[in-house]
Amino acid sequence: MTFSLAIVGRPNVGKSTLFNRLVGKKLALVDDRPGVTRDRREGDARLGDLAFRIVDTAGLEEADAASLEGRMRAQTEAAIGHADAIVFMIDARIGLTPTDRAFADLVRKCGKPVILLANKSEGRGGEAGTLEAFALGLGTPVPFSAEHGEGLSDLYDAICDAL
Ligand code: GDP
Ligand code: MG
Repeated sequence: MTFSLAIVGRPNVGKSTLFNRLVGKKLALVDDRPGVTRDRREGDARLGDLAFRIVDTAGLEEADAASLEGRMRAQTEAAIGHADAIVFMIDARIGLTPTDRAFADLVRKCGKPVILLANKSEGRGGEAGTLEAFALGLGTPVPFSAEHGEGLSDLYDAICDAL
């Protein structure tokens, strides 16, 4: 059986870093500037003995549909629509922002399984933000570090539970 995951979240939380780690190639552009991933990018991901399709998205921004942010949002909604499960990512060092909350509502509405990753949690720097993330109502946040590869076995377990 093959399945697909969409990585969703506001700009700069680390979505493309996770995509690159799971696909093993630098197919997604990682940048310090929020919103640098303009396009959906898809790749074949591997995690342990799992093989699946993964979609990286532009950051979600609440904006007018005519704007660039609106188009990025539309792409993200399409990615959510095509995926079997969603990886919703927050920046645990920053904690929840209004944008995280607004788009968590969108993700919750899709009715698909959601894995909540509290990224940038290396060195325990994300503990407060991880606890805050319970308030999103998307299940138990998984402390994670896309950059350092921490939490991958918890992500594996969460994917198996979601399917
Ligand atoms: P995106 O906009 O959500 O796709 O985020 P990116 O993957 O482009 O990453 C945004 C910034 O966060 C970059 O500077 C990354 O190096 C950084 N970043 C990504 N993952 C982590 C992480 O686990 N820990 C820390 N400290 N920084 C990270
Ligand atoms: Mg990106």
